[in-house]
Amino acid sequence: MKKPIIGLTPTLDGDHGTMQTRLDYAKAVEHAGGVPLLLPPLGPDALREAALACGGLLFTGGVDVHPALYGEEPLASCGEISPKRDEMELALLRLALDRELPVLGICRGIQLLNVGLGGTLWQDLPSQLGTQLCHSQRPPYDMTIHTVRLEEDSPLYALIGRRSYEVNSTHHQAVRELAPSLRAAARASDGVIEAVWRPESRFFLGVQWHPEFRYRIDGGASALFGAFVEACRS
Ligand code: MN
Repeated sequence: MKKPIIGLTPTLDGDHGTMQTRLDYAKAVEHAGGVPLLLPPLGPDALREAALACGGLLFTGGVDVHPALYGEEPLASCGEISPKRDEMELALLRLALDRELPVLGICRGIQLLNVGLGGTLWQDLPSQLGTQLCHSQRPPYDMTIHTVRLEEDSPLYALIGRRSYEVNSTHHQAVRELAPSLRAAARASDGVIEAVWRPESRFFLGVQWHPEFRYRIDGGASALFGAFVEACRS
């Protein structure tokens, strides 16, 4: 069977003029039967062609989304930002919605999807929400650090098959107000939204954790990549 091409969004290093990603994303997609390709920040026409050559898009982790995109000024606790990457990913999100391409967002990816659809973020969980839960663990990243509760009416629950699920966590920002078209699919014990889905879409999921570190050892993580790649076939 022909393998679907999955477009991955890159980290852009303006200082060195490079794009890059952790290979874990590519390996997880390959393991699930897809062919991962890293998408460069092209002009609008070429970016459109590149996206439409893909069966689906994976929005990867990375630096913070610019708070201006949800109507705020950056706080001192906001991290590094990348307006060029924001611009590229928002264009890709619009294309995905127009063409009904399957979408998976991971870490920064869930945040970008929420902001792109009109939601807001916590710029810094420890200082703004005052949560005592560890959302920013140290390595090893294939180790879980907190639980999430999955919403039973979400496609994530259908994939993972239980209410309580152990995840890793390497974020200091998170979804604050959900975008109008998104629903929460999972929350941490401190109430932080850890996964979202879009009921209008065929496949549109964002997770705040990092399944790409755990697909070999966690059935829930491999089921997530498997379902995403399967959706990208059609
Ligand atoms: Mn977390």
